Amino acid sequence: MKCTSRRDILRAAGWLGTAAAAGTSVRVVADESQSKEPADARPKLKVVVTGGHPGDPEYGCGGTIARYTDLGHEVVLLYLNRGDWMDTGTAVRLAEAAKACEILKARPAYAGQVNGKAIVDPAHYSDFRRILEGERPNVVFTHWPIDNHADHRAISLLVYDAWLRMAKGFALYYYEVSNGEDTVQFAPTHYVDITKTEARKRSACYAHATQSPDKYYALQEQVTRMRGIERGCKQAEAYIRHVQSPDFALPMS
Ligand SMILES: [Zn+2]
Repeated sequence: MKCTSRRDILRAAGWLGTAAAAGTSVRVVADESQSKEPADARPKLKVVVTGGHPGDPEYGCGGTIARYTDLGHEVVLLYLNRGDWMDTGTAVRLAEAAKACEILKARPAYAGQVNGKAIVDPAHYSDFRRILEGERPNVVFTHWPIDNHADHRAISLLVYDAWLRMAKGFALYYYEVSNGEDTVQFAPTHYVDITKTEARKRSACYAHATQSPDKYYALQEQVTRMRGIERGCKQAEAYIRHVQSPDFALPMS
């Protein structure tokens, strides 16, 4: 991945902050939403939010995604598979994901694996790395790897391997989804206030109408309210930044 010059430009523009490691403490990095520079004069960032299934990026990061796209940045939701299962056909799931992405002003992309049958082997590491190289991301979000769903663990490992092979050239954050049922042992290092974008996040999650949003959104909202209490706002999404990741300006307020 040849993103050195772009990263240099971004660093010069003050978007990437320092390269200091976060350590284990909670740190607040530069708040890009407070920048005095006009939005259309700033370089655009490429944000890739990966998920085991359509819906995972929306449930885990939907409020953050909306904040990025509102700031004019390009966001891709990269799903490991199309989420079709039993009697829910592919066309239905693709349409749901397209609608969710439209609400968040993001673009859907697919890594070509099969729902419930994730494969992590050398060939799939290479395939996935090539997809990420093609996107040239400044930051990638993925599932926290301690997760009870094999597809979530799989994409977390695929992202991690790509990050290593791409010389840790983009910022790497982990997110939480369906805590207890999926994500476990998640101890955040960073928070994003989603109070103003939660309604759009909710709409994007409910676009996945075949996936029991009444049940799962209620669970996820309990999590964002708890993270909001921790952060000191109404609702927040929480992340763990890899300790060796480049610093990166999350949209904070
Ligand atoms: Zn999932």
